[in-house]
Amino acid sequence: MPTIHNPDLRRALAERLRYYNELGIYDFYRRSQPRASNLAMAEPDRDEPAPPPQPEQREEMPRKSAVIAKPASEHVFPVLRPKPEQNVADPVAALKLVREDLGECTRCKLHKQGRKQIVFGVGNPQADLMFVGEGPGADEDAQGEPFVGRAGQLLNNMIKAMGLRREEVYIANVVKCRPPGNRTPERDECDTCSPFLMRQIAVIKPKVIVALGAVAAKNLLAINAPMAELRGRFYDFMPTGARSNDPCWQGAKLAVTYHPAFLLRDPRQKGEAWKDLQMVMKYLGLKLAGKQE
Ligand code: SF4
Repeated sequence: MPTIHNPDLRRALAERLRYYNELGIYDFYRRSQPRASNLAMAEPDRDEPAPPPQPEQREEMPRKSAVIAKPASEHVFPVLRPKPEQNVADPVAALKLVREDLGECTRCKLHKQGRKQIVFGVGNPQADLMFVGEGPGADEDAQGEPFVGRAGQLLNNMIKAMGLRREEVYIANVVKCRPPGNRTPERDECDTCSPFLMRQIAVIKPKVIVALGAVAAKNLLAINAPMAELRGRFYDFMPTGARSNDPCWQGAKLAVTYHPAFLLRDPRQKGEAWKDLQMVMKYLGLKLAGKQE
């Protein structure tokens, strides 16, 4: 495939391909020659007489010799490369492949800003419920597991209040390395890291994802709105650029609630967070402990 040098054209093409991927279209074919009619349209001022009318040329279904479009460069079309976990039915093995692909990642600047280790995610690889935060803090960085500090303790209590155990859900973050000083992860860091989160989601195939806090919500939903507008409803969610190997999984419902660290700072909002979790419980058919029908 010829290399495209014009950066605007490359960007536009990448956007268009991403759009097709989101529609579930992954394989692309290229015509080997432009059609005569297209050439005639491209050069209307030539003095030569117009060629005699041709019978309609139908585009044939691709044969074995058809050229399958390949990425012009790794950077421009990353979503087109088949992922190693695709077609791996066992979610444990598939998540392992995603983790191996992540490797000792240096893809964004967070790798050189004091991280001790990558915090990939933890929990049940077949969980119905998944929690997504924004990024690891100091405790998580030290232990290599998301939500293990004070905020993690509160998240555990929230999970318990839903009648579940931490081991039954899956917990991950938008970025997998600790931002220095617990700052908010920056846009480029989220954009670089979140494809791995999307792949985790595509493997786990949860029924519901709860975005913890505005950063997680905005990154997952690509919506820039205040928490008051984001909360209180479900969104249909399909991980961008990642293909599930299960045709029966049509994506997850996504709900937004407050980040546990925010609830530690402002405990008055715990009631609001509980309303969000009750909405999720209702959808998942979870009952309050001790409550009879
Ligand atoms: S935050 Fe993500 S993309 Fe950035 S270095 Fe860590 S693992 Fe890689």
